[in-house]
Amino acid sequence: MLLGDPATLGGQGVRAVEAIRNEFGLDTECLQVVVLPHDDLQSRARRVNKRAAPFAIAGFQSPKLGVDRTIFVEGSLDGVEDAVLIHETLHALSQGFYAELRQRRLVRLTEGITEYLAREVMIHQYGMSSASWVRRYAGYVAFVDELVEAVGRQPVIESYFASASGFTELERKSRAKIGWGTLAQAARSLQSDDVSSAISTLLQGAHPPTPPRGSAVKSAQEARAQCERGDGRACYALGQLFHQGKAVSKDDARASALYKKSCDSSDANGCASLAFAYEHGLGVTENRARAAELYRKACAGGNAVACHNLGLQLSPMSDLQKSTREDIPLYRKACTAGFAPSCDSLARRYSIN
Ligand SMILES: [Zn+2]
Repeated sequence: MLLGDPATLGGQGVRAVEAIRNEFGLDTECLQVVVLPHDDLQSRARRVNKRAAPFAIAGFQSPKLGVDRTIFVEGSLDGVEDAVLIHETLHALSQGFYAELRQRRLVRLTEGITEYLAREVMIHQYGMSSASWVRRYAGYVAFVDELVEAVGRQPVIESYFASASGFTELERKSRAKIGWGTLAQAARSLQSDDVSSAISTLLQGAHPPTPPRGSAVKSAQEARAQCERGDGRACYALGQLFHQGKAVSKDDARASALYKKSCDSSDANGCASLAFAYEHGLGVTENRARAAELYRKACAGGNAVACHNLGLQLSPMSDLQKSTREDIPLYRKACTAGFAPSCDSLARRYSIN
């Protein structure tokens, strides 16, 4: 049966082909689709792929079958899940890219891009809400989101559908944005399922983090003198000593007052520490709204931890599904600056059921 044939799957196939054509501006050919019940699909996939997939699959496509442009999907003649049909159809249209990445042992990137593009089609062409998206290959898709953010959507799409050397072409196109070799290095981390490292390699390749400036302050007395002269960085350093109870007796109220002075002189570290004090009621009355405001100021001033903490406040992990995703640019900024927990947050943002 042909996907482009209106009789196929009650028109589902035509709709899939048209949706992909509309979304990516492609000239798609007809595709053959074979619909199999669950058990038949699993055993057929095992015969084609020597190493069995560790999980049940909903569909597959393989040039090794000798029948190019044929896809196999789970279902009955009553229908197939649209997202699965789209995913497998995309694979069938990107065999050059797949072959290149298989040769370089980086196929997980193909899976991520395939599912990313399937999501694009489902959301834009089928009107599915992004919240109801089934999160298959979750971490890989999170990586591709960052790839698109870093190098642009069009180069990724063009490479994916290129007949050959698409990945090499993508490396070439993204060279100025993320650096030569960064994409392959990130894809290797993805291949070992280390999504967080893959994302941090990608983002930090794009923007190498600047090393933190060492404090010039040597002692509490020196810090006090410098702070009194209006050096915000010294006020922050002295505040830290009061907070930690080092060289002076621990006094959180005093620490917070010093952080305020530091923040008033626009020291991002001072603002971040004052925000933390408000968030946890350390030497000040707990006030989450004030904390968020100060985290925002500190984040804008370049404090990565503040960006991360603000992200956590906006979308607590327990409530990610309801998240309006305001947190993502904050995690991205902090990961780019080298704060690893933010790279983790980006990697995990779809890994929920
Ligand atoms: Zn796939």
